[in-house]
Amino acid sequence: KRRVTTGDGTAVGYDRLVLSPGIDFHLEALPGYDEAASETMPHAWKAGAQTLLLRRQLEAMPDSGTVAIAIPANPSRCPPAPYERAGLIAHYLKTKKPRSKVLILDAKDTFSQQRLFEKAWKELYGDMIERIALSQGGRVTSVDHATRTIVTEFGNYTPDVANVIPPQRAGRIAGIAGAADATGWCPIDPVTFESKLVKNIHVIGDACLGGGIPKSAAAASAQGKACAGAIVNLLAGRAPETPRLTGVCYNIVAPGYGFSLAANYQPRGDIFAEVEGGATSPVDAPPELRAREAAEAQRWFETITADTFG
Ligand SMILES: Cc1cc2nc3c(=O)[nH]c(=O)nc-3n(C[C@H](O)[C@H](O)[C@H](O)COP(=O)(O)OP(=O)(O)OC[C@H]3O[C@@H](n4cnc5c(N)ncnc54)[C@H](O)[C@@H]3O)c2cc1C
Repeated sequence: KRRVTTGDGTAVGYDRLVLSPGIDFHLEALPGYDEAASETMPHAWKAGAQTLLLRRQLEAMPDSGTVAIAIPANPSRCPPAPYERAGLIAHYLKTKKPRSKVLILDAKDTFSQQRLFEKAWKELYGDMIERIALSQGGRVTSVDHATRTIVTEFGNYTPDVANVIPPQRAGRIAGIAGAADATGWCPIDPVTFESKLVKNIHVIGDACLGGGIPKSAAAASAQGKACAGAIVNLLAGRAPETPRLTGVCYNIVAPGYGFSLAANYQPRGDIFAEVEGGATSPVDAPPELRAREAAEAQRWFETITADTFG
């Protein structure tokens, strides 16, 4: 019926609807993890109460404690962010609780900007960060929040702080609208962002199945603009233009230590593929470049925040 109904019962009609509901957690894929578990083992993957809870747990942790970060397989929100978080937590521990460690339990073998991260971890934190990859049994298969136990294919862990990031899918409303498929994500036409499943609904941001384009704020912002352009053309009866999306991903591993990955994406079949023109920071770079990139990251954040929210 092309109608959106809000919680207070108000109904709004539309010609075309843009959905950008972000992510929800695919809890069936992680036995033992639910709302109650997130109160002891925070995911902190949606900002607000959860990130504050993780902060309080880190502050309360004794020196010589272990912080575990459980990382899901892709697709997931901001694939490099768990590794950035590992570095930032290590920075806090090195400063305040130097006998502690960060244990990464990973459902992946390789990850974005891996060489840059691993070099930075070694350089800045020595052996403080340990990572157990998929092929070493690092994939988390279940959790028990009563005992704060993380179960992996290799063994059980009972860290002092358990940051468990569960597998994900598109925000629930996308499923209710019929725009999510069996993967839990929303297939789209990458030229118009129109759902492959429901006509006149366009899906942007983390919720869409974007292929090579990572689920990031940079991508969501670029997709929003391209989608608006496509809708203007469609409403005017014109053919939509093929978009070329640009995104830059900054990672901060310590204050004044940053690196980046810039990339361009274009539609290829039903998804976005990376095309020429991208660049990654060099692995061997002088401290001045790391410091410059950390400052650029802050400026990027201020610009995209103002651009998005005014
Ligand atoms: C730790 C971390 C670090 C990150 N770092 C970066 C980074 O450095 N650079 C970068 O580009 N990206 C980063 N990201 C990723 C970025 O935050 C997301 O990719 C981006 O927010 C996605 O935008 P979105 O619009 O798809 O979803 P969201 O930002 O989650 O917005 C969706 C909104 O829809 C609302 N919503 C959902 N359902 C409904 C409903 N039924 N009715 C009304 N409202 C609803 C939600 O409440 C939410 O406000 C990071 C993410 C994390 C977790």
